[in-house]
Amino acid sequence: MIEVDRPREDPIVASAELAEELAALDEIVGFDPAAALERAVALGERAEALGDHDALVTALLWQAEANQRNGDPAAASKLINHVRDAHAPLGPEHAVRAAWLMARIHTDLGDRPTALEHAMDAVAAFDEKVPRRLRTRVLIKVADLLDELGAHEDSLIWYSRAEELSAGDGRMHMLVVNNRAYGALEAGEAEEALHEAQTLITLSARYKRPLNADALDTVARIHLLRQDPAAAAETAQQAVQAAQQLESKVADALPEYLLTLAVAQRHLNLPEVAAMTLKRADDLCGTQAYARTRADILQERAEVEAALGDYRAAFETHKEFYAADQELLSQQREAQARARQTIFETITAREEAARYREEARRDPLTGLRNRLYVEERLPGLLDGRRPPGQVSAALLDLDHFKSVNDSFSHEVGDEVLRIVAGLLENAAAIPDAGSFAARLGGEELLLILITEDESEAYAVVEGFRASVESYEWTNITPGRIVTLSGGMTMAVPGDTRSSLLARADAQLYAAKSAGRNRICTD
Ligand code: GH3
Ligand code: MG
Ligand code: MG
Repeated sequence: MIEVDRPREDPIVASAELAEELAALDEIVGFDPAAALERAVALGERAEALGDHDALVTALLWQAEANQRNGDPAAASKLINHVRDAHAPLGPEHAVRAAWLMARIHTDLGDRPTALEHAMDAVAAFDEKVPRRLRTRVLIKVADLLDELGAHEDSLIWYSRAEELSAGDGRMHMLVVNNRAYGALEAGEAEEALHEAQTLITLSARYKRPLNADALDTVARIHLLRQDPAAAAETAQQAVQAAQQLESKVADALPEYLLTLAVAQRHLNLPEVAAMTLKRADDLCGTQAYARTRADILQERAEVEAALGDYRAAFETHKEFYAADQELLSQQREAQARARQTIFETITAREEAARYREEARRDPLTGLRNRLYVEERLPGLLDGRRPPGQVSAALLDLDHFKSVNDSFSHEVGDEVLRIVAGLLENAAAIPDAGSFAARLGGEELLLILITEDESEAYAVVEGFRASVESYEWTNITPGRIVTLSGGMTMAVPGDTRSSLLARADAQLYAAKSAGRNRICTD
């Protein structure tokens, strides 16, 4: 079918369609990440054209997942950091997905403790609205990591939670049991692994879902562990068939299954057959992407050659395996180091950007907030969505400051400003968090307070005025006391930044007219 890019009249319909198409990536990303990536980029462009912010973030996270599954953890982590920076704060679903992807990335890098931290962050961001499948995947990830970190008992608790959450969803339920089976297999727990394999087969019948190639391979390997090569060979055959039907684009799936089959055949005392199966596996491993599997195949070929009585060939092949294995290890280390470096660089860049943002909103002389900060922050305090507590503004201006500069020096004037700013910062720290002090320019300061009521706000401002007057000025401006005047007002519904500051300014004028060194309020 040819897809025509028809114009979409209704943005709500277009967004709903987009959401559906994004959700469908879940079915592709696992076995064809390259195709999923291409699709996610196209959907992201459509989201941008539509101005659909939520869909855009979803598309970017799919791109990250496709990159991660495609073996490019650096690109994936770059995308996630971008999303976390440019689209903060993320909603619960996006926050969970981003943290879960970070867990996968760190797993790829071989840093399981960090991966576990990210996975736990994902759990912490759970809420009822986060899709069940995603929550199940996160719980599985925690369980897998605990298992790999040697906490097998703990992992079982998390697998149970995942199983509970996935009940009724065949694909996810079987994924939970598959991973738990794999854990038991890796732990060498033959009986436990067998039990899981049986559960998997039962579930397959109950949900009327054939076991996928990966699950079949797990079961085959469990049979090997239990020293039942006949059952292993039969199941591995099925895995090979399933993989051929699926045409999975994920590297080394089919050769892996052939390798399991070859091991089973060797244990069935059919080394000639095993040798042929290995040849098939080896032929499929043409490219660099299959290097790990190739090395594993060499190792098994040495075993087969020994079983055939050709000890000389077995020895040579083993040497070949050893060299390939060493080469892979060093390549792997190098790749991991490169990916880590990229991730480290993006984190550093993020921190620098955050620091720059912070610096750009502070006044360099006094360290107080500046006008830009006020402009960004104040509207949010006035939009009426604040919980109980009142917002007030006090405009403050030093008295006869020009003469301080004239009598002493501009440098002394600067020092006075720094001291007054320090006292103002102390005053802003008294009430509720969210209060702040700023320098609007020159010797004009602003205090925004969030307090229980007006009298508390007035007490803070008046206290600040008194602290300036009673400061020990002798060493700074000998023979002279620095004072300031202030105009104060409480925010009322409908206030804007400029209406609020205009009222405060009128009160400041009143304070100056009334003789300075006082606070006036309306
Ligand atoms: P009043 O406000 O009490 O009416 O008198 P004033 O002398 O403070 O009045 P005005 O606002 O006219 O003068 C402000 C002075 O503040 C002018 C300038 O010398 C001084 N000033 C402004 N910014 C700075 C600064 O960054 N450093 C120093 N040292 N002085 C500054
Ligand atoms: Mg002034
Ligand atoms: Mg002044």
